[in-house]
Amino acid sequence: MRKVNAAALSLMTFFALLAFTACSPSLPAGEKRTIVPDKAKNYFTFESAASYPDSLVLTERNASLVSRFGLKNFVFTVNMFTTVGAEGLICFHTGSNQQDTARGYAVMINNSDYRKGNLQKTGSLALIRNNFVRTVGDGEWFTLTIEVQVNLISVRVNDRLISEYTQPGHPERQAGLENRLLSEGLLVLRKTSSEGAIIIGEMTLKALAPDLLPAAETAFFNDSTGRMLTLLNQQGFPLIDFHAHLKGGLTSDQVTAHGRSNGYNYGLAPNCGLNFPVTNDSSLLAWYNEMKGEPVFKAMQCEGREWVTLFSPQAIAQYDYIFTDAMTWTDHRGRRMRLWIPEETFVDNEQQFMDMLVAKIEAVLSNEPVDIYVNPTYLPEVIANRYDQLWTSERMDRVIKVLVENDVALEINSRFRIPGLTFVRKAKAAGVKFTLGTNNADNTDLGRLDYSLWIIREAGITAADMFIPRPAGDRKVLKKGLPARITG
Ligand SMILES: [Zn+2]
Repeated sequence: MRKVNAAALSLMTFFALLAFTACSPSLPAGEKRTIVPDKAKNYFTFESAASYPDSLVLTERNASLVSRFGLKNFVFTVNMFTTVGAEGLICFHTGSNQQDTARGYAVMINNSDYRKGNLQKTGSLALIRNNFVRTVGDGEWFTLTIEVQVNLISVRVNDRLISEYTQPGHPERQAGLENRLLSEGLLVLRKTSSEGAIIIGEMTLKALAPDLLPAAETAFFNDSTGRMLTLLNQQGFPLIDFHAHLKGGLTSDQVTAHGRSNGYNYGLAPNCGLNFPVTNDSSLLAWYNEMKGEPVFKAMQCEGREWVTLFSPQAIAQYDYIFTDAMTWTDHRGRRMRLWIPEETFVDNEQQFMDMLVAKIEAVLSNEPVDIYVNPTYLPEVIANRYDQLWTSERMDRVIKVLVENDVALEINSRFRIPGLTFVRKAKAAGVKFTLGTNNADNTDLGRLDYSLWIIREAGITAADMFIPRPAGDRKVLKKGLPARITG
């Protein structure tokens, strides 16, 4: 008898919940509500959430606030603060019971440093438009704003646009994400890690009219590159173009808009070295400070070989990562060559040139404390068409060995379409980490990482094979220092 009652009761609860979810009351459109913590119970059901007069605290894994109302179009802003190890999600257009929580979208809360916790950081529209750039740290208050207008989702952190997505008419979803779609539903704030705490202050919520006009579909081009970008986002693959420049008047806003619409992040670098725009600590720090608030990785491109004498390790360590190529060096006859400039390049003998090039790559990557070898295996124009013959197996192995021994990642460069597939396969087998990079020369050639994505597919590169910048206290230049003399 007792058992039956319990079963009947749970069934009744289930139907009551279903009824509530299906017809949860909507807020009046156009009215902006401020939800202070001690009134939050009027708007949310608490699950293992602690309530204080000026804050709500989520500590346990799965501790949640579940809205008592449904939403379609809306603007929601929450003031938040995380402590070390805390990760969470803000889900919308979702349901409240177990089966229904896979419905709708989720925005990531995670302010941990790189190589710690989830790769996706705060503001990531999880598995749709991922964000890997950390724009807030643990221990600081910030605002997260989610806006939905029919088919357009925007996510802002401290009022800066981080993720943006226009859901197409026929969205492609891989298995498990079939219900990651816009509809109408609940808003849920949930802690997903067992460490740390998420502290929630004031929230504001504005329901927008349900009958707004849809936004025009974006320029996202669903060819083989587009489909690869969609698939890799859904796999949580760190899609980052680590090698872009603000050249030809290009602005950071233009670069990040390009990345948002295509579905990847950017690392921006000034060119630093002799006769380049950045030549000393003060210009290096000035560039960093100018870019500090931008939602991009800040990178230093180390130019020529003289750069090691121009900057201090402390100034270099401000940057998320540093990279160089082996396109500038001095040959056995004392000629300083820049391999991309035909008039400055001398190939007296192909084999001798290649042996010099490999030896220079070895010297650079073992002496200079760089994170990434970019424009890798680049050959000057005069011998570029002999790439497959000149990059012998033995030469490839020497370069791969120096990458492994010095923990240097290998760029897969979309502009020069290098290195070749054979080289990448060998490097992957040896455990080398990879980055995607463009190295745009102007404001018109950011591209869409076509070659890099093709290589990823052909070589079977996975998220685990990809380079992620080191955390702040772990920079290579601080551990290894700078070489006493230039490497040639
Ligand atoms: Zn570059």
